[in-house]
Amino acid sequence: MKDNVLNEIKKRALEEKIPIIMDDTLLTIKKYIDSKKIDKILEIGTAVGYSAICFSEFLSEDGKIDTIEREEERVIEAKENIKKMELEDKINIFEGDAVEILPKMNEKYDMVFIDAAKGKYPFFLKEALRMLNDDGIIFADNILYKGYVMSDYNKHKQRTAVRNLREYIKEVSENPNLETEILEVGDGLAISKLKNND
Ligand code: SAH
Ligand code: MG
Repeated sequence: MKDNVLNEIKKRALEEKIPIIMDDTLLTIKKYIDSKKIDKILEIGTAVGYSAICFSEFLSEDGKIDTIEREEERVIEAKENIKKMELEDKINIFEGDAVEILPKMNEKYDMVFIDAAKGKYPFFLKEALRMLNDDGIIFADNILYKGYVMSDYNKHKQRTAVRNLREYIKEVSENPNLETEILEVGDGLAISKLKNND
């Protein structure tokens, strides 16, 4: 890892108020991945590529990351950052709305990181489950959204987001095929794995 370059990317993202993955969230994901090398990662919400760059550390030698971002300016900056880190062969950005792109995808992934529009989390879950390998793992960031999700918070602006984050938690908790943990790390992290049926 080019640590200085990565630190610059992080610093700039924070200055630009881009909501990049928090350090403790990243550490938790790393712990769950548990040094097992991963072949394919899907990320929904690239921003400037910071988390994708961090996740590249988990990849096997031929491993790849597909990541989706709809804001053109962020895609441009993400591409610059990925180039600076010399990770162009590992990280592939799909530019556009994940709601349109995901249904057209048909790959299988070992890890999915959901970190985009909160109002779309239940949809992202459905698509993530469709493309998840049997021993795969899904992480959903910001699942507790500043504590709003677990309180009786109903402020108008965030109401749709909160309703859909609650819906996501309900679905992963009630799905008999999934084992799920909701952690208070960072802004809340949901971790779901398929139960093995043998
Ligand atoms: N994962 C990044 C941070 C992502 S911030 C990191 O930790 O470094 C969330 C990003 O998701 C924003 O850049 C936003 O533009 C993008 N986004 C939100 N909704 C989206 C959608 N429906 N399709 C594609 N990108 C989306
Ligand atoms: Mg996030």
